[in-house]
Amino acid sequence: MKIINPATEQVIANVKEDNKASLKKKLETLRKGQQKWNAVSLKKRIAILQKFADLLKENMEECARVLTSEVGKPLQQSRNEVNGARSRIAWLTSNAEKYLSDEVMSDDGNTKEVITYEPLGVVCNISAWNYPYLVGTNVFVPALLAGNSVLYKPSEFSTLTGFQIETFLKKAGVPDDAFQVAVGAREVGAALLDMNFDGYFFTGSYATGKFIYEKVAPKMVPCGLELGGKDPLYVAADVKDIKTIAAGTADGAFYNNGQSCCSVERIYVHEKVYNKYVEEFVKEVKSYKIGDPTQDGVYIGALTREAQLRVVDAQVKDAVKKGAKVLTGGKKLTGKGNFYEPTVLVNVNHKMKVMRDESFGPVIGIMKVKSDEEALRLMNDTEYGLTAAVYTSSKARAEKILAQTNAGSGYWNCCDRVSPALPWSGRKHSGFGSTLSHIGLRAFTQPKGLHLRG
Ligand code: NAD
Repeated sequence: MKIINPATEQVIANVKEDNKASLKKKLETLRKGQQKWNAVSLKKRIAILQKFADLLKENMEECARVLTSEVGKPLQQSRNEVNGARSRIAWLTSNAEKYLSDEVMSDDGNTKEVITYEPLGVVCNISAWNYPYLVGTNVFVPALLAGNSVLYKPSEFSTLTGFQIETFLKKAGVPDDAFQVAVGAREVGAALLDMNFDGYFFTGSYATGKFIYEKVAPKMVPCGLELGGKDPLYVAADVKDIKTIAAGTADGAFYNNGQSCCSVERIYVHEKVYNKYVEEFVKEVKSYKIGDPTQDGVYIGALTREAQLRVVDAQVKDAVKKGAKVLTGGKKLTGKGNFYEPTVLVNVNHKMKVMRDESFGPVIGIMKVKSDEEALRLMNDTEYGLTAAVYTSSKARAEKILAQTNAGSGYWNCCDRVSPALPWSGRKHSGFGSTLSHIGLRAFTQPKGLHLRG
């Protein structure tokens, strides 16, 4: 399999893909290794994963360089990602004992009632490329902490990062037979679904997630799905500092080239503040430097997948055909690399693909609304349900709106944000199950209720 740098279109590596026979061998290895790994004390497993985080810190520049070379994000955003993974590991490791240890629920002197959190066994993790350190960490770190062995399939677009993760996990002390990497694209992922893992945890698109869920369902094992989004943001009439809000929300839409599951994908603005907001928003977007992601100051790098250029372009063309106006951007850059101008559209409506389908690229539609009620109706008019954001000076207004949004995360005066202390979970086509928080730590366990007498 060829690994291509999306900013230069050069082949930067050739890697050997797995096949059915090599995957079978990896599963057998992990099956044998799982019990040994589970027999390692929780304290020791925690120390090993903390060491993994230390190694990420020590090798930060190398990790960031490799990540940028295969996914095209600006070097500083790659560094931010590695640091983000370190802080998630810090939270997960410092809370593992609290949430994975046995819990005595009652003891009346005659009967003791205890919950134990047993590992699932061998866990299969099929992952995405947009934040390989973060979405990987969400799964393999708690899974390993809980005593599972893990088969990790990085996306074909972040394979080299997958190898680095493997190197540092093993250097930190994770045994070879507790963690294995599966190399390849769709066919390799599909082959894993024909095998017998004890749980499947997937991060990726709705289409693939649906396919995986249908294949896994008859196995009667847990299946976690972290899928796409069409995340709405509403700017209410009472906001104060419009310039700062416009800059912050533009960052929410365009950070990582809009290739975040929780990127702001649609914006609704109350008519009272609409003109000023749009003016400041466009000013901010026009200030973004686009180009070689290894250069300092570049904010918009290359899109990771060449195919996404066509998706974004088709959304822009569809919107324009239906009456939208392009305020900035609107086309691919000429020359080498997957570069698309950051694009702002107004006069948009829900008949346009850009307001309905996940863009996963540097394009945003901004729509004027007359009331909170209209904003809320439009925010919920989607097949997805990952996050929803409200900007307002009123706490009561924010709470009222967020309580009625059908999404796994709600933001007041912030957006495009993930915290390790809170559950990360989607609704509807954004998937189900949770990673992160105590719920995500326990997602890789099966509880056993013990009724003990004697
Ligand atoms: P994708 O669905 O194309 O691929 C994801 C993974 O699935 C890859 O490893 C791929 O090789 C594998 N795969 C593809 N077809 C398969 C099949 N038939 N059987 C088994 N495996 C298969 O998604 P992507 O392009 O890598 O990621 C982008 C998507 O992921 C976006 O929709 C984004 O919103 C979503 N995402 C969600 C979250 C979240 O936490 N909710 C986080 C990151 C990304």
